Amino acid sequence: MNLSNCPQCGKVYVKNSYNMCPNCLREIEDQYRKCVDHLRKNRSCTLHELSEETGVPVRMIIRFIREGRIAAKDAPNVLTPCESCGEPIKEGTLCANCRSQLAKDFSHAQEDAKRREERQNALEFGSTYMKDRDKFDKR
Ligand SMILES: [Zn+2]
Ligand SMILES: [Zn+2]
Repeated sequence: MNLSNCPQCGKVYVKNSYNMCPNCLREIEDQYRKCVDHLRKNRSCTLHELSEETGVPVRMIIRFIREGRIAAKDAPNVLTPCESCGEPIKEGTLCANCRSQLAKDFSHAQEDAKRREERQNALEFGSTYMKDRDKFDKR
């Protein structure tokens, strides 16, 4: 049996694919159902209204949306904060600004990696050459 501590409540439980104890899992299912029910009745509510009216913590609602369990089209006014700057956004984890910034950083990182690799190759070439030269000298 593979025991683990539940990351939600800290209790020991038998590990499962949800990484959560059955109690917490049931609790989250309840919270999820409450959100979905509420959105069905009141589709225009915002993240904070939804949280206040259902008693479900904001971070749980954000998680449902990030996991795609609550679709953006079913909750058009529930905005989640951009993971980088906190700007409210409708879908995904990053706002348009941070996404384009990230794309820029990413291409820079790729260039850096390429340059590092080239330098590494040059060094390796140099040391192989030195080794061969030793062999050559001993002959
Ligand atoms: Zn738990
Ligand atoms: Zn952002």
